[in-house]
Amino acid sequence: MSRRPIVAGNWKLHKNAGETRETIRELASNVDAAGGTSAEIVVCPPFTSLSAAVEAARGSDILIGAQNVSSESSGAFTGEVASEMLEDLGVSYVIIGHSERRWVFGETDDMVNAKLRKVLDGDLVPIVCVGERLEDREGGRTEEVVRTQVTSALKGISEDAAVRVVIAYEPVWAIGTGRTATPEQADEVHRLIRDLIRANFGGCVADGVRILYGGSVKPGNAGEILSQNDVDGVLVGGASLEAVSFARIIEKA
Ligand code: PEP
Repeated sequence: MSRRPIVAGNWKLHKNAGETRETIRELASNVDAAGGTSAEIVVCPPFTSLSAAVEAARGSDILIGAQNVSSESSGAFTGEVASEMLEDLGVSYVIIGHSERRWVFGETDDMVNAKLRKVLDGDLVPIVCVGERLEDREGGRTEEVVRTQVTSALKGISEDAAVRVVIAYEPVWAIGTGRTATPEQADEVHRLIRDLIRANFGGCVADGVRILYGGSVKPGNAGEILSQNDVDGVLVGGASLEAVSFARIIEKA
């Protein structure tokens, strides 16, 4: 089955509204100059730059995502942003359970599951991040960790909803470190995730779900990673901040 690749950029805590407009316009013109792309392009700036991003991306092939979302719709939840509010702005994607949310801000598997269930009640496309830490990989626990994270995230979700979920496999030891998983290491974990989805939701869902790789993806290594069977795109941090390098990664998809 052919799955449309996704190239998503996670800008983390970078770029104000003006910088966001400028980078998105530059990215759109670089993608056009390269003859366009069949991949879905997603840019995820900070919350305060989302409006500017949506406006700058209008008329281009770039879609906008948020980096986090609340599991609630409204109420006494200081600092939170609801999925309805993101949809209202024109946002189409949202990252859930990024390793920095898990390991810096203490998000648990249950919180990731609650956020995912909430998002799937609406129209946003969720990108759920999973991945092992260095001590897990070195201790031979990669499979166990990824299995637990994927199973917990998808708990209580219907087949119809599950097929809309995008999973990003991001080994924590490869994020922002310049150390990338080898294409074979990435493909092995992607296969494990797809098999897990097949066992829980059946073949149609498993064949449709897109699984992205993330962790120090750069223009120089993107092609090899993207050529793996079970890799359906990439989630890019550092190299997505600069329009020319992000456009070069998009070209590989
Ligand atoms: C990320 O933030 O999801 C990421 C993969 O970062 P980097 O590409 O910088 O490793």
